[in-house]
Amino acid sequence: MSVVSSCAALRKSIEKSRKNSLFTVSQVTLLAAVKGQPVSSIMEAIDAGVADFGENRVQEAGAKWPALKARHPNVRLHLIGALQTNKAAEALALFDVIQTIDRPKLAETIARIRDSGFGIQEKQFYIQVNTGEEPQKAGVVPKEADTLIAQCRALRLPIVGLMCVPPAGRPAAPHFALLRQIAERHGLKELSMGMSEDFETAVRMGSTCVRVGRALFGIDPAAR
Ligand SMILES: *Cc1c(COP(=O)(O)O)cnc(C)c1O
Repeated sequence: MSVVSSCAALRKSIEKSRKNSLFTVSQVTLLAAVKGQPVSSIMEAIDAGVADFGENRVQEAGAKWPALKARHPNVRLHLIGALQTNKAAEALALFDVIQTIDRPKLAETIARIRDSGFGIQEKQFYIQVNTGEEPQKAGVVPKEADTLIAQCRALRLPIVGLMCVPPAGRPAAPHFALLRQIAERHGLKELSMGMSEDFETAVRMGSTCVRVGRALFGIDPAAR
């Protein structure tokens, strides 16, 4: 299937799930997860009307996006992979949205860069929660999420929502429910949850941003 027709099919099922949602969400962002994708695939997605893109690595994004953004200034670039503190300045220069704040040190580093004069008022930040408490995965564990959210607010970082990547091969619904509970407790509106396998469930559970790779582009070229 071409990217254009996958995109149309995806939008249709997202809309259907949104209407069947238990929650009132007026719009769900379709974010294309493009790790390992060539610029030609990204261009196809842009032509199909996708406006939000997610990269996992600062370095990979830095190689592709400055040129793409110059040509497509309305595109919003999201960091959806782990961020090292020593790459924070580079990430702030490249990305419009950072979805993976997961520890106080990273929040403090971003605040310090802001305090040195780098404007972040146009940026959005999400906190990544490791809902499955998987040791190999990034994200703050659920019991420490409240503290991290409070720390980010004290640092005046504009946190808009939460993001999670549930454990593979297990039902995702309990993880989406947990993420939602934490967000509600703090009045956070955005929920970045749902990928190719489970975006319909995620949307029914109130997701505002689904991050889709394989269902849009076919097999991940990095996994071939
Ligand atoms: C790769 C990736 C996705 C997309 O996964 P698919 O299963 O290909 O849809 C979403 N979120 C993150 C953080 C990813 O790394």
